[in-house]
Amino acid sequence: MKIVITGGAGFIGSSLARTLMKHCEISQIRVIDNLSTGRKENIAGLDVHFFEGDIQDAALLKQAFHGADAVVHLAALPSVPRSVQDPLASHHANATGTLQVLEAARRAGNLHVIAASSSSVYGANPRLPKREDLSAAPMSPYAVTKLATEAYLSAYHYSFHLPVLPFRFFNVYGPGQRADHPYAAVIPKWISAMLEGRPLTLHGDGTQTRDFTYVDTVCRVLADALLRRVVEPRPVNLAFSTRTSLLDLIPQIEAATGVRAHLERTADRVGDVFHSQADSTRLRALFPTITPTPLEEGISATADWLRTEQRMHSPA
Ligand code: NAD
Repeated sequence: MKIVITGGAGFIGSSLARTLMKHCEISQIRVIDNLSTGRKENIAGLDVHFFEGDIQDAALLKQAFHGADAVVHLAALPSVPRSVQDPLASHHANATGTLQVLEAARRAGNLHVIAASSSSVYGANPRLPKREDLSAAPMSPYAVTKLATEAYLSAYHYSFHLPVLPFRFFNVYGPGQRADHPYAAVIPKWISAMLEGRPLTLHGDGTQTRDFTYVDTVCRVLADALLRRVVEPRPVNLAFSTRTSLLDLIPQIEAATGVRAHLERTADRVGDVFHSQADSTRLRALFPTITPTPLEEGISATADWLRTEQRMHSPA
């Protein structure tokens, strides 16, 4: 099988490339990435064909999709606050970009397309756990772009028989996730702050909850979906129905880093969802053999990776 990963130089995409390399059924991995938030060093040393460029470039997509079997579409400008700063940039990359990917997949002979939507589409809908058939209530431009992503997959399925699978990722974390930018996710940001002896910035009171999913678990689901060619036009939550508050994370990170946390409290973030917990019934029915990596194990591996990164980049 020849697989294209859009956004393959990013956090989840490069981890997926590493996972797919372990499967003998996968003969070639192609990565398309414009390196806007990803890095070339994430795929350094991996056996991948790299197409540097934008998913809005139809000619580049045509070249990269030629002769491929499937596409895992991860390219997007992630982050809620980034989309609040610049809604149009998020729309172009995430919504228009997805349409371009689907059009190229259709023209290349109806490739299997698996794409990343997000739990942010549930937004202001207060019901828990988040079942896929709850009504969407986006609270940020980012959430709208992800709703468009999954809606376009559904439309291409029904209009053109494109074999699709839209996943709603929840809070994915793990080795490879950058902590050194303003839109960094909470787990790498806090681990990195603790390793450097800085206080943890806490938005709100810390009782907000998340369904954290370890990146290796996500990649194992994606690989299984590719290898068994799982097709499902309805969105599928990719999380295992856990519920961890930000305050609950602190002792786990303290244990993994061996450092005592100091909090710096600040205001809630605009567009942030308060509680997030997946209903995983649909996921478990489609992927019965996948068991998630426990949070404690994932945080410990993430801390090990960030510690090594800090050593490598600190002045000798
Ligand atoms: P990431 O920023 O590390 O990866 C995204 C990659 O896409 C980057 O390498 C970036 O350079 C590339 N990219 C962005 N715009 C592009 C464009 N126009 N053309 C080509 N490449 C482009 O983020 P990630 O955390 O790996 O996220 C992967 C996907 O999962 C995204 O679609 C994101 O919205 C989604 N997602 C992630 C999470 C999470 O917790 N990490 C949660 C929900 C959804």
